[in-house]
Amino acid sequence: MPFLICEICAKSGVLCAACEKKLQEGRITKLEVGLSQTIYKLTKGEVGFERAVELDDTIIILAKKEDIGKIIGRKGAHIKDLSKKFKKQIRVVGTGNLRDSVVEFIAPARVRDINRVYKPEGEVYRIRVDAQDKDKLRMKTEEIRKIIALLTNTNVELVFE
Ligand SMILES: [Zn+2]
Repeated sequence: MPFLICEICAKSGVLCAACEKKLQEGRITKLEVGLSQTIYKLTKGEVGFERAVELDDTIIILAKKEDIGKIIGRKGAHIKDLSKKFKKQIRVVGTGNLRDSVVEFIAPARVRDINRVYKPEGEVYRIRVDAQDKDKLRMKTEEIRKIIALLTNTNVELVFE
């Protein structure tokens, strides 16, 4: 069970020096701290998540596949609580196989190819999407880029061709 902040901080709702430093250095976000504390409370410390991304009207929580059910809660009870508290829709997405997650974000649009390319400015994770499917994306291109960048820790390029 990955916790982005230490268990004591998740439990107490106050950040220790080490977790505060992580936040200051931008390795975790305020949203992730808030979610960590709330999810800890909701699941009684049973599960954590890996990252969270805030979009216009949705918060995407990335979590290990086996933890998704516990985060969602019985009949979606936790999702309802989280949604009320953070005032956005909540979507929990499984991590694990990176390629599968990427395909899932792009679906129903079809991914033609994924590869890592090296550019002068650094490594780029390039996803080639079928140009015919451009209108099928469920999220804005920029949002998809943001999520995948978090998952891959690299810059992401979406190419339609
Ligand atoms: Zn801490």
